[in-house]
Amino acid sequence: MSKKKESLTKAHFNCVAKTRYRNERVATIRAKQIGKRRGVELWVYKCPECKGWHLTSRVSNRPVVDDFEVIA
Ligand SMILES: [Zn+2]
Repeated sequence: MSKKKESLTKAHFNCVAKTRYRNERVATIRAKQIGKRRGVELWVYKCPECKGWHLTSRVSNRPVVDDFEVIA
């Protein structure tokens, strides 16, 4: 029996929508590869939801922009 219905937080949404990496090293490598391909700089961060790592893009002088990565 569930106590309460969990609302979908932004962090959770980002988590399920994004590719998850098992550790920082792998995420960093992919961030460099994808960032180079797109001509942007990508950053890695540890996800509080899944304890994995995700990528995010950030443009200078702008707030953090969530990056959706799609891997074929
Ligand atoms: Zn996550």
